[in-house]
Amino acid sequence: MTVAERLYLPLLPGLLITMRHFLGNFFRLRKPVTIQYPEQRREYSHRYRGHHILTTRPDGSVRCVACFLCATNCPADCIRIEAAEQPDVNVEKYPIVYEIDMLRCVFCGYCVDACPEEAIIMSNNYDMAFYSREQSIVGKQDLMKPYTVDPDRLGYRPSFPEEAAKRNAMRRQAFDLVSAARQAAGQPAAPVA
Ligand code: SF4
Ligand code: SF4
Repeated sequence: MTVAERLYLPLLPGLLITMRHFLGNFFRLRKPVTIQYPEQRREYSHRYRGHHILTTRPDGSVRCVACFLCATNCPADCIRIEAAEQPDVNVEKYPIVYEIDMLRCVFCGYCVDACPEEAIIMSNNYDMAFYSREQSIVGKQDLMKPYTVDPDRLGYRPSFPEEAAKRNAMRRQAFDLVSAARQAAGQPAAPVA
């Protein structure tokens, strides 16, 4: 062992780096990368996949028709549905039990994609803290809670009206460009798509 090693001198560069970071953070010389959650919150995408919402009809009944497509497509096998007959003859079934195990869910959104009724969507609510395993299994009433359908707190869902409007505008623009090119070439305008 050399004299420098006996004096632990090779450790100095590492200690200096640690000290630099410590002093920088201590005297707030740089912007912290962390935030003071929950007082401060980050802005997430409007497609954020958070806590699920079971949507309702205008009369407040659940839209879900208990077709099991969401549960069948769920890769985490965390949706449990029990179907019951609907008194309304226009609707075949409804879920008497609808539960999602939030600790097993991987928030992939496949249940939303699979649903033919837009009966399940996702909010951008990521405040999910549980004190027991049982609490993490969220039932139908909690999934239908009105606070989660605040339009500002909606997340991933099958239809995004603002994006549909943008797509239509782009289609119209492309159609106009094709029509202009055809007319310039002496051809009839493009047929309406
Ligand atoms: S988000 Fe994915 S994992 Fe979670 S319930 Fe839906 S399909 Fe299952
Ligand atoms: S949430 Fe949608 S996919 Fe799932 S059972 Fe209900 S209707 Fe079917």
